[in-house]
Amino acid sequence: MISSTPEKTASIASVQIGPVKVGAFVHQQQLLETIIDLNGRVFAGAAIAINPEKIMAARQDPQVAAMLSQAELRYADGIGVVLLMRKRLNQPVQRIPGCELWQSLMLRCADYQVPVYLVGARAEVLAQTKAGLLQQGVPVVGATDGYYEDEQQLLMDIRQSGAKVIPVAMGSPRQEQLIERLRQQLPDCFFMGVGGSFDVFTGQVKRAPALWCRLHLEWLYRLLSQPSRIGRQGRLLHYLWLALWGRL
Ligand code: UDP
Repeated sequence: MISSTPEKTASIASVQIGPVKVGAFVHQQQLLETIIDLNGRVFAGAAIAINPEKIMAARQDPQVAAMLSQAELRYADGIGVVLLMRKRLNQPVQRIPGCELWQSLMLRCADYQVPVYLVGARAEVLAQTKAGLLQQGVPVVGATDGYYEDEQQLLMDIRQSGAKVIPVAMGSPRQEQLIERLRQQLPDCFFMGVGGSFDVFTGQVKRAPALWCRLHLEWLYRLLSQPSRIGRQGRLLHYLWLALWGRL
């Protein structure tokens, strides 16, 4: 299987928000076709979801900014980012929830028979995720849970599997750090950090009900159901303040 090169991103507009440049994808399909094109070629590199929380973290810590910039495909997952991009570009930009992107990408892997290797989550969640995906026709050629001890073994296992698409579900920044190390050794593969997506896929964690999502209130739902996230949400208010005053 041939991999495509990052030059493909050149045609996609981007917006600088704080220290982070975010790709303005008009709809999720555009991003999916960038990752696996109509000829089934896989984008060699990584994708990362950008939300206000990550932008604020990048403003405070140059290491976070550098880590975000290493992923070639930075897409907007967060209404606070999308609204600012629409205003600046004066063109449609769609919010792409990472979890939905991952599920759609898995179906695209099924359509094009692109081999997938899953990394992350607890062993039982991973086993259920793998079984569910196989049932959907996704060619899952290997999987390792997020509590492995030997990273070298993981690397060898991925290499031997022949996988081209590697979702990593270990939470931030752990997953991004692992992706950064793995991609040096596997330069033809596509990587994406998917946080708690395997937990959502298997029903261990509930996503906000559809209406909350449609109203872009998923962040509020998560705050109400996990009040411990309040510190993380505090940054969102600071972001809004800066955005309103044009300081981002
Ligand atoms: N996890 C993992 N290895 C670890 C720590 C966490 O695989 O060492 C997994 C955990 O089982 C869960 C996911 O990472 O599936 C954490 O997702 P979380 O919702 O915290 O990530 P976020 O989307 O908030 O970044």
